[in-house]
Amino acid sequence: MKRLTALALTAIVLASLSSCGTEEIGPSTKLMLFGVDSANWNVLTAMIEEGELPTMARLVQTGSFGVLKSGIPIQSPQMWTSIATGVVPEKHGITRFVAEIPGTDREVPVTSNMRRVKAFWNILSENDISVGIVGWWPSWPAEEVNGFMLAQRAWPVNWSAHGIPFGAARDESGRLIVDEFPGRSYPEELYAEFEPFIITEEDVTAAELDRFFADSRFTDPRKQFHARWVYAKDRSFADAGLAFMRKYEPDVLAIYFQGTDVVSHYYWGYQEDMGYRVEPADARLYGNVVRNYYRFIDDVMADYIDAAGPDCAVIVVSDHGFETKEDLKVRWERGERIRTEEGGKDVPWDHGVDGAFVFSGPGLRSGHRAEDGSVVDVTPTILAYMGLPTARDMDGSPITDIFTPAFLEEHPIEYVDTFETGERRGDDAPLESPMDEGIKEKLRALGYIE
Ligand SMILES: [Zn+2]
Repeated sequence: MKRLTALALTAIVLASLSSCGTEEIGPSTKLMLFGVDSANWNVLTAMIEEGELPTMARLVQTGSFGVLKSGIPIQSPQMWTSIATGVVPEKHGITRFVAEIPGTDREVPVTSNMRRVKAFWNILSENDISVGIVGWWPSWPAEEVNGFMLAQRAWPVNWSAHGIPFGAARDESGRLIVDEFPGRSYPEELYAEFEPFIITEEDVTAAELDRFFADSRFTDPRKQFHARWVYAKDRSFADAGLAFMRKYEPDVLAIYFQGTDVVSHYYWGYQEDMGYRVEPADARLYGNVVRNYYRFIDDVMADYIDAAGPDCAVIVVSDHGFETKEDLKVRWERGERIRTEEGGKDVPWDHGVDGAFVFSGPGLRSGHRAEDGSVVDVTPTILAYMGLPTARDMDGSPITDIFTPAFLEEHPIEYVDTFETGERRGDDAPLESPMDEGIKEKLRALGYIE
């Protein structure tokens, strides 16, 4: 319970006099992590130089930034789990997009119970540091933490491109009815607080679509579909995460955004500035969707940073980059059938090994181009920043180059043998949910599963 002390009262009075109109007393959040799928310097550098990403520009000016190397295979659930654990996929156990239900030939999307090691949210929780985790991939079922977790499957996978409903339906009045199943949030009852924030693809307004397409009235609805559903998902989590950060004030907040990757898969080849030959009408309608999505995420980050205040450190990381495979592009332009090493089919663009990181905040060097890091270094770096040791059995280590000498003097990097005490975690078998077919259809459309 918070007691209304004289100090708090003063703060409230001062806040009511403040003219900036933002949240009165910022949440006590000390560290915010934005997971931005496939964010890369190909796109970021050009946009920052052109003044199109004011939030990222400020973070780069005030923080340390560099290339975050992805691992093998360059796929999202594996790499986001490496980011969250500090270890490679063979050790954490998430090695594919899907896994087989034992005794059957059925495969379902990977689930959090398959993870064999602790994630940073488990380690922080055990050390009395509270956390708020939003939409991580994979994060269903939500885990018991010191704080809250919204599983990625809290957002209902809804109508597919072919109009097939999964995970949710609408009644005659148009009200959304979501299939009930456990584990969408921790604590379980938090789901009721998330529900008002859910928007689905058909809730996205023309004005919102026009943020991505030059004029959405003239776009092909099938070509809108992927920007539309992933925007609905990211928007739902962005709005809920911000409200929950203000309300629950976790010490560490981490939120994952998928849309930068999804729109790169579908709209990368409409970008003339990336060397593609595009019909003028298509270039106008679809040529800026990727960049416009980065702008949207930049705006979302600005809202969080405003709410948290200047003492909160900010981390932006991606699980891999995104790039044109130049050799495949030549063959594709000749009309050959191609497939990238990462698994994408029929197009010469896909994930690349060079992701991005930015760390900005008290104790961190500013305007500093840091040494390259790796996805497995993120968790050790978070632990070091929060004053915890790193573990010798992790594959990564803290990116010490980002810390000021004064910070390192006060908080020298310390080690323990392992955090894997207690029962061995992790099951080989995935769990089933009503959303499995919907998630698989979206992965299939990207060419990642058969
Ligand atoms: Zn990814």
